Amino acid sequence: MLFDDHTSDPRTHLVQAAKHFYQKGWMAGSAGNLSAKIDEDKFWITASGCAKGHLTTKDFVQIERQNTGEWSASAKLLSRPPSAETSIHQAIYDLFPQAQACFHVHSIPANLAGLQAKDQQLQLPPLEMIKGLGLWVENPNVQIPVFANYLDVPTIAAEIRQRLANHPPTVPLLLIENHGVTAWGNSLTSTFHHLEIAEYVFAYMVARQQME
Ligand SMILES: [Zn+2]
Repeated sequence: MLFDDHTSDPRTHLVQAAKHFYQKGWMAGSAGNLSAKIDEDKFWITASGCAKGHLTTKDFVQIERQNTGEWSASAKLLSRPPSAETSIHQAIYDLFPQAQACFHVHSIPANLAGLQAKDQQLQLPPLEMIKGLGLWVENPNVQIPVFANYLDVPTIAAEIRQRLANHPPTVPLLLIENHGVTAWGNSLTSTFHHLEIAEYVFAYMVARQQME
């Protein structure tokens, strides 16, 4: 998928990405949420409850950073509520100011691979594909952080903020147990690639376990 990473309005790209992820089975129904920055203090995020295979550019809510540093939905553009998981995107943009986009999907491989986590870390196999996550080393020894799933999403976001502020991950990924994966990057293109690579690695892990 080709993105214009310098676009001033990323919504059409997010529509395309959601359709692609929906077709992969990673955004079944209204699952998952995608966001992209407009500038340092604003981002678009998918509205709550929209069918991800059939989004339009109207299915987004603009979130702005207030003078207090808190994020909130832009009142003049708020025709519907933002994604219920907006607080996780806010945490990612606060923790990683260079992040330009954040994609979160609910895929079967992510949930199955997550079952192999130990001590809230998931060890990734040392695959060549890891280079695509920005880690150019031989035999990479990579763990991604795994978080407990709570009904109250701000509790998940608070744990992400607390843990990743002290221990930033070596690759731009996190997992929420029995829920899904979140990827971010410094462009739409890199975020898309990070998510695709994560899903490749998770599918590999699931297939490898079946061979044991
Ligand atoms: Zn989710």
